[in-house]
Amino acid sequence: MIRTRFAPSPTGYLHVGGLRTALYNYLYAKKHEGQFLLRIEDTDRKRFVEGAKEHLIEMLEWIGLDYDEGPNKEGPHAPYVQSERNDLYKKYAEELLEKKHAYRCFCTADRLSEMREHQEKSKKAPMYDRHCLYLSDEETQKNLDAKTPFVIRQKIPSSETVKYKDLIRGIISFAAKTLDDQVLIKSDGFPTYHLANVVDDHLMEISHVIRGEEWLPSTPKHILLYKAFGWTPPEFAHIPLLLNKDRTKLSKRQGDVSVEEYIKKGYGKEAIINFIAFLGWHPGGSEENEIFTLEELVKHFSLEKVHKAGAIFDIEKLDWINWQWNRRKYHTILKDKAHYLDPNVIIENPKKGEFVYKFNDPENTEKFFKERTDILLEMCDEYLDEKYKKNPEKIRKALVTIEEKILRDPKSTQEYLKFYFDDIDYDNELLTHEKMKVDYKTARKSLNEIYETFQNFDSFNDMDAIKNILMKIVAKLELKNGQVFWPLRAALTGEKFSPGVFEVAWVLGKDDFLKRTKQALDRLENTKQ
Ligand code: GLU
Repeated sequence: MIRTRFAPSPTGYLHVGGLRTALYNYLYAKKHEGQFLLRIEDTDRKRFVEGAKEHLIEMLEWIGLDYDEGPNKEGPHAPYVQSERNDLYKKYAEELLEKKHAYRCFCTADRLSEMREHQEKSKKAPMYDRHCLYLSDEETQKNLDAKTPFVIRQKIPSSETVKYKDLIRGIISFAAKTLDDQVLIKSDGFPTYHLANVVDDHLMEISHVIRGEEWLPSTPKHILLYKAFGWTPPEFAHIPLLLNKDRTKLSKRQGDVSVEEYIKKGYGKEAIINFIAFLGWHPGGSEENEIFTLEELVKHFSLEKVHKAGAIFDIEKLDWINWQWNRRKYHTILKDKAHYLDPNVIIENPKKGEFVYKFNDPENTEKFFKERTDILLEMCDEYLDEKYKKNPEKIRKALVTIEEKILRDPKSTQEYLKFYFDDIDYDNELLTHEKMKVDYKTARKSLNEIYETFQNFDSFNDMDAIKNILMKIVAKLELKNGQVFWPLRAALTGEKFSPGVFEVAWVLGKDDFLKRTKQALDRLENTKQ
């Protein structure tokens, strides 16, 4: 049975690297119909943070990484919080003392720092000099009787070479003589990470330890501990470091590292998981799709496909994945609701990446409009100014024209539709366009004709009618489409880029349409050319 675990030290927030470790452990276990455990490694009491454990559990729940055993759940190896397992570690440390794989060290902090200074000066690697390894039984007893504080150290068999096969990195070997005699039990009686981690992985029957590359130097120490106890070590897999774009180690200084920050920024959990999974892993082969649900990730995941090289944490990629997820969700809801659409309705136009809706009955247009805008409204509701919402018909129409932008970045909705609602201002030059051959004269001519013609036009709810009448103006003036549409679009939006002119006219309605066309004409009055 494959059993993996996520063993975080609760720091108060969930690091994106931590989430990736949890995810890979989850995926590996689930892929092999095994079990995934959560164990809280809180032996470092100096770093205790109130509520951190609860917060971690909440985050894993929210993101959907359900664990089979762990705190708040029954399980054969409870408790799953190391600070509640203290007596156990003491017992195992005693066992190592008896087997002479560990020894008590009574060195004072002063002596140790003196030793280190000395080593530094003589350019030697900082290592415990084994002063207490050579204490006689009587000396040790004397210290114990005098209640001299002590730690328990691992006695590293320095002549050995530790060799193991990492499932990602291949054969790894370490000369034991480079390893320090680790502290296993601190003077406060609490175990260090090394002892507690090994004892628990063994007792909890962990078959695969999947963890960050930063733990690689600890692995030979752990393997020696397994050996000292006479236990079989688990398999190890060390996943690559997370890097900033400039290839330095991912740090708070260059961006957010806590999952909470990304949630606050509005990224969805499917997108976060999807993005995190691809940090150091790719399904490979001919697989081009990069949008996966958690279940799909379970199906595709394998440790062989995890890369050795550091993984770049690229926010633009996260934005892109989030966009793809928003589209997927949006179109799934729509398809689900709009049964009256053609069965193949929402077809993605692969070239443009756009979606096309096919109706079998035009009567359904209105119903569909309502359903579509309900979802869009919900997506960007919290980012919309209240005053815009007071005009429900206009806001719904406006949302339809910027649908793809909302799916991409709902937070910017307000920015994208400002021009529909607020007064606009622009440089007069915007009304012209050199390439499209729109000079001030042409702009004036087009806008004049439009202004006159639309006085008697009342079908602003019908986009096709708007289009027809504008095409007629193009023909009448013997101009090119752009020579009429560009100045009108610029006059109506005041923006260089915006939705198309028919859509904009449809949203604005007659009053605003005429008002803005007139404003542009007045501006042109005052321009000489
Ligand atoms: N408690 C360690 C951490 O905070 C666990 C490392 C391991 O997985 O062995 O990451």
